[in-house]
Amino acid sequence: NTWFDAITFALLQPLLRAVLPSAASTATDYWEEVSGYDENMNTIRTYQVCNVFDNNQNNWVRTKYISRRGAQRIHVEMKFSVRDCSSIPSVPGSCKETFNLYYYETDSDTANKVSPAWMENPWIKVDTIAADESFSQVDLGGRVMKINTEVRSFGPVSRQGFYLAFQDYGGCMSLIAVRVFYRKCPRVVLNGAVFPETLSGAESTSLVAARGVCVPNGEEVDVPIKLYCNGDGEWMVPIGRCMCKAGHEAVENGTVCRACGSGFFKSSQGDHLCLQCPINSRTTNEGATNCVCRNSYYRSDSDPPQIPCTTIPSAPQSVISIVNETSLRLEWSMPRDGGGREDVVYNIICKSCGGGRGGCTRCGDNVQFIPRQLGLTETSVHISDLLAHTQYTFEIQAVNGVSDQSPYSPHYSSVNITTNQAAPSAVLIMHQVSRTPDSITLSWSQPDQPNGLILDYELQYYDKVMSWNSSVVRSQTNTAVIRGLKPGAIYVFQVRARTVAGFGRFSGKMYFQTMTEEEYKSSFQEKLPLIIGSAAAGVVFIIAVVVLVFVCNRRSSERTESEYTDKVQHYTSGHMSPGMKIYIDPFTYEDPNEAVREFAKEIDTSCVKIEQVIGAGEFGEVCSGNLRLPGKREILVAIKTLKVGYTERQRRDFLSEASIMGQFDHPNIIHLEGVVTKSAPVMIITEFMENGSLDSFLRQNDGQFTVIQLVGMLRGIAAGMKYLNDMNYVHRDLAARNILVNSNLVCKVSDFGLSRFLEEDTSDPTYTSALGGKIPIRWTAPEAIQYRKFTSSSDGWSYGIVMWEVMSYGERPYWDMSNQDVINAIEQDYRLPPPMDCPSALHQLMLDCWQKDRNNRPKFSQIVNNLDKMIRNPNSLKAMTPLSSSVHLPLLDRSTPDFSSFSTVDEWLDAIRMGQYKENFANEEFTSFDVVSQMTTEDILRVGVTLAGHQKKILNSVQSMRAQMNQITSVEV
Ligand code: AMP
Repeated sequence: NTWFDAITFALLQPLLRAVLPSAASTATDYWEEVSGYDENMNTIRTYQVCNVFDNNQNNWVRTKYISRRGAQRIHVEMKFSVRDCSSIPSVPGSCKETFNLYYYETDSDTANKVSPAWMENPWIKVDTIAADESFSQVDLGGRVMKINTEVRSFGPVSRQGFYLAFQDYGGCMSLIAVRVFYRKCPRVVLNGAVFPETLSGAESTSLVAARGVCVPNGEEVDVPIKLYCNGDGEWMVPIGRCMCKAGHEAVENGTVCRACGSGFFKSSQGDHLCLQCPINSRTTNEGATNCVCRNSYYRSDSDPPQIPCTTIPSAPQSVISIVNETSLRLEWSMPRDGGGREDVVYNIICKSCGGGRGGCTRCGDNVQFIPRQLGLTETSVHISDLLAHTQYTFEIQAVNGVSDQSPYSPHYSSVNITTNQAAPSAVLIMHQVSRTPDSITLSWSQPDQPNGLILDYELQYYDKVMSWNSSVVRSQTNTAVIRGLKPGAIYVFQVRARTVAGFGRFSGKMYFQTMTEEEYKSSFQEKLPLIIGSAAAGVVFIIAVVVLVFVCNRRSSERTESEYTDKVQHYTSGHMSPGMKIYIDPFTYEDPNEAVREFAKEIDTSCVKIEQVIGAGEFGEVCSGNLRLPGKREILVAIKTLKVGYTERQRRDFLSEASIMGQFDHPNIIHLEGVVTKSAPVMIITEFMENGSLDSFLRQNDGQFTVIQLVGMLRGIAAGMKYLNDMNYVHRDLAARNILVNSNLVCKVSDFGLSRFLEEDTSDPTYTSALGGKIPIRWTAPEAIQYRKFTSSSDGWSYGIVMWEVMSYGERPYWDMSNQDVINAIEQDYRLPPPMDCPSALHQLMLDCWQKDRNNRPKFSQIVNNLDKMIRNPNSLKAMTPLSSSVHLPLLDRSTPDFSSFSTVDEWLDAIRMGQYKENFANEEFTSFDVVSQMTTEDILRVGVTLAGHQKKILNSVQSMRAQMNQITSVEV
């Protein structure tokens, strides 16, 4: 494989002839150029010398200047013949059979007769050359010679060029040819890469590394590709390799990467060949990396490129429906054509028809599907909680992995059914109207679904300690007086309704207690308290009226009943958890101390150890400390104190917070341990929250939490607010400063004091005096500012502000705008922009909380669900609202949207290729951009978009519509 390059001449002759004058000019020059024959009897020219009879011979002959040409090691091949000394008669002892080879490096051709001097150093000796064979007969006149060939090499050489010289020192020889060469590895294509011509190294053992370059459309695999050129001009030790990239295959022994032809594809880098396109697909150009599906055929995201394209399934077949009262079982068989796929599942669409308007509407959320409504893998479903005597249409859609890529709705089979008569649903709420030592009067609400005319109710009850001995009372109305009870005993009640279809289910168990004789006697002395109602205790008010009616009626008869306890013993069950109370405003008590006694546990001051002051409250210092109740572990607590010199009114207001807090029991509401009222100082003792109030906590930890952590905090606050809302309690001052954070980052709603709204002192600028009390303007809903309409919806507005505070790590809402500017801006439909890095889903939720019409704001239960979904699906928090500038408030003017690209929702649906849902949108009255732009995922599901891909597409388009609307109307402040 070695490649020879004759850098001088194949035959030495011309060279030597050229240098002969200088060689001849040496002092002892006996070399001469003569003609002769080689072994094949060809005439050749040689240089000969043969002065064996003279002593001290030193005959040199030198080549002409030889350019180095980049070589580092030079090889010299010499052909020569030498006469055997013993064959020469009477030869002297000085006769030699060897000669010496020398070289001399120089950058230019400057040699002459005397320079370099004819001696070792300046010349460098390569070797002494001896003949393998010598010829014994001298015949310089044309006799055949025995020719030797010897090769020697030397290096490293580094000058521009060099001379070679041959020294005879008393031999009889003839130099026939000299070939000078260097070695190199040739350009090769190996392992998919091209390696350039590379010269061997300076030593015979040197390895010279060469980098390869992948052939066109080839790619390096893993490591850089390399080869080494050895001293013999051979490539060795290949490292790494190139492979043809996607869309190209290796041909011509791996030296060329050729583009896949039409109808063929190659999806990845590798040695494999292009494959033929799978069924239902084709290529559009050469060098295809995949084949595109033919019309109406698709590939799901997880389908590999080598499997055939598939299509949507045909409709399910042979649907059977079995109706049982208000339940239904649907069964069907698989579609005839699965579209070429195995992943067919089914969605059930429920519509109730004939509800008066003639058309069909989607069923509400209360209809139950077992195992589920969407994505059924089995071919049957059980549906319950339908309305009695109602016509329904069920559509069974077949969908598969490519359904959401198809612009067409899934194929479905539908079935119409009519439900039968059904027993009434369970009574959800029952409360005590009045009681005596031997009777309890109860009333309850009608079942949500009577499913017909209610004939009567059956009330079942028993003494709690004698559960085997139950009694039954019938009532044709939704009240009953149960007599003959034991004084001071707890009774368990359950009620159920009856229609022609039979009895409904029993309500949950509810517990009521008869009066003790003592209570009964003392109640005679007490006057009926004046019940001045708070709106929050509306239900209580109604009960109170009932109490009044009863009391007044009974006054004339022999019975008198207790009033206070009646108010508090109001129980609900069913969709609210059983036993949950309704909040009672302590100010409805004539004597607020009564409320404190009722709701807050009195703690002996000796159990409380104050450690240090941690803050300033409305009425005095807030301290941390320890509480050790008898028989319990010592716990860390926060202690609010009432400063000395308080007025009776201040004491009452201070303790009202405890009466409120004491009614709550929820992990996201600050927990009241108890109060100290019987000794000074008066204290309210609550659980200790290590991280203090949320606003300052966030400011201290700016940017330190993940979005999920922040959403987790918001979820906790929303859960606490949902609980308050369920209790009918309106907070009125929901703000990050009134949320406390414990060491586990659990957020709890606190600050139930009412006084700050009432007091005239305006030293705290957060609370601005408004007609009828002070209001924290930035946190308060417009209707509450304008006409003091505080509801759980106005708390919802404040919750949106808290969300904003949390996501901006405690930034002040509306920055340094004045309160009046904030009121004006809100009135003009400005809303706070998303804080930095705030996911758009969260800002959207804030904007929902800040809807002008309070009925459009989400309920706390919806907020909790929404946040739970985000936590379960963190990807939904990835999308960010593009921020134009932090002082840029989006204007959400819902009355004058200037969204003008399409004139109707239908046009818009067509434009986003979702035209098949036009009718669905119209049926659910999503017919204007105003409503469409506010659609949530639930709305999209409700209009009947069941395919995830379509839902996503519509949601994205709705979001961009909303963003465009915001942009169109946004104004620089
Ligand atoms: P308040 O009067 O409720 O606004 O309390 C005043 C300050 O005392 C709050 O801002 C908190 O920093 C601190 N504080 C109040 N209650 C607690 C508690 N339960 N745990 C820890 N710190 C509290």
